[in-house]
Amino acid sequence: MNAVTSMQQAILQAFQVFFPEAQGPGSLVDGGLQAGTGAEIVLRNAVNGEETLRYADMGADTVQAAVAAAKQGQQAWWALSHAQRGRIMNAIGQRVRDHAESLARLESLTSGKPIRDCRGEVQRVAEMFEYYAGWADKLHGEVIPVPSGHFNYTRREPIGVVLQITPWNAPIFTAGWQIAPAIATGNGVVLKPSELTPFSSLALGAIIEQAGAPRGLVNVLAGHGQVAMEAALPTGDVGKVVFVGSVPTGARIAAAAASHLVPCVLELGGKSANIVFEDADLDRACLGAQAAIFSGAGQSCVSGSRLLVQRSVHDALVEKLVKGAAKLKVGDPQDDSTEIGPICNERQFAHVRRCVDEALAEGAQLALGSAQAGGPGFFVSPTILTGVRNDMSVAQNEVFGPVVAVIPFDTEAEAISIANDSRFGLAGAVWTRDVGRAHRVAAQVQAGTFWVNGYKTINVASPFGGYKQSGYGRSSGLDALREYTQVKSVWVETAAEPAAPFGYL
Ligand code: NAD
Repeated sequence: MNAVTSMQQAILQAFQVFFPEAQGPGSLVDGGLQAGTGAEIVLRNAVNGEETLRYADMGADTVQAAVAAAKQGQQAWWALSHAQRGRIMNAIGQRVRDHAESLARLESLTSGKPIRDCRGEVQRVAEMFEYYAGWADKLHGEVIPVPSGHFNYTRREPIGVVLQITPWNAPIFTAGWQIAPAIATGNGVVLKPSELTPFSSLALGAIIEQAGAPRGLVNVLAGHGQVAMEAALPTGDVGKVVFVGSVPTGARIAAAAASHLVPCVLELGGKSANIVFEDADLDRACLGAQAAIFSGAGQSCVSGSRLLVQRSVHDALVEKLVKGAAKLKVGDPQDDSTEIGPICNERQFAHVRRCVDEALAEGAQLALGSAQAGGPGFFVSPTILTGVRNDMSVAQNEVFGPVVAVIPFDTEAEAISIANDSRFGLAGAVWTRDVGRAHRVAAQVQAGTFWVNGYKTINVASPFGGYKQSGYGRSSGLDALREYTQVKSVWVETAAEPAAPFGYL
């Protein structure tokens, strides 16, 4: 048996835990897995670059069927009581926990992510359903004291059907992140994961139905996003598009949705500044900087890809970082001890290598890493670039790989100015023992998430989203529930003899 066949078998076996008859990915529509009718998509093993599976893109008919199924499923779901919906969402969380190892294995095999990271992300998915289960019967409207004889109150109602489009870097995490608040508020879902990593989202869709959600409430399309958008929007039944991905795609999606007057939430890329002052605990800052950029092989929207270091501690921090990063274990994602896996796909691998080449051509120096391609597969070892200026391409563009650009600064004002000299505004951090400075910097850096003496902690209870070109709208917490609902104002006449039958609009 050759390597390709064994990998293909491993993927199919892991997928068949959720779809026993499946011979490859299809689209989950109205509770059934349907083979696509569109162009062929080739999947590769990120460890060695070899082909693993081929499948047919969904095709427009499948998209339309998914929207219709979500519309039906939503009606059945909304007919349940709020508490019943909450109970089913808790059951989904439990079922995710029951299948945690199978989901993590499937994710790791098909995305190239280290198995230990996948295990953690699956637990977060269970927490998302449990957190939003608690909200299902607690999101209510308000009574408004209006200056007339009316009783005026608001209702938070579902949007109807939402289209969610997600990337390949954390497939099941992102699916749970968006599906849980959408269904907690009574919506039906059509989720379109990356065409490169559809498996774990399909498995999650199956779990949701097995846990008691109505058939068709959550549909998952396998294939290209453009096909999904072009077929879904003209149905007139998609009330909102929630997109997680790159800036150029986000702009295209927002434009397409706008032409149908459909609103969007956009969760886009970043170029976050991780700022270390000379008074910081340098050992902790170094560990934080490592986690900020190298975990997930840097394929994280919030990664601390610009490391701003006060000049007086620049050399000491770089030395620590080089020593620490060199010890990180890069290797087979299926190995329990692997800390950094390959880049997920060939296109992204080429992009990361191009970014490093450009940085070196512009004058950056390689403190750690290799400018050469090494071995088979899409591996990039931890790469530390020094001598970077903020106007270089590596400091302005998203690399989305394990590549950190170290930029020196002298003063607090200069650090803030460099941090904000970016079209992105997703996240950032400051390392300092000066509590006043910590709050000053947190207030002035233009970013949707900011950490003090830490990095990368997020939680489903806390809002998340971008400033500037990192997007708009919010995910997680109560804010996500607002994104997934619309407000209705209800006026009830209470006066015995109404003064005037007409309003003022
Ligand atoms: P991408 O923009 O290429 O693709 C994302 C999704 O959009 C995929 O499902 C893809 O099929 C779909 N798509 C592509 N073209 C489309 C079109 N014309 N119409 C509709 N859909 C289309 O992004 P990617 O390479 O998969 O992911 C990496 C990017 O995602 C990075 O920029 C990263 O920062 C970003 N990201 C952001 C967040 C966040 O929360 N802000 C989280 C994770 C990843």
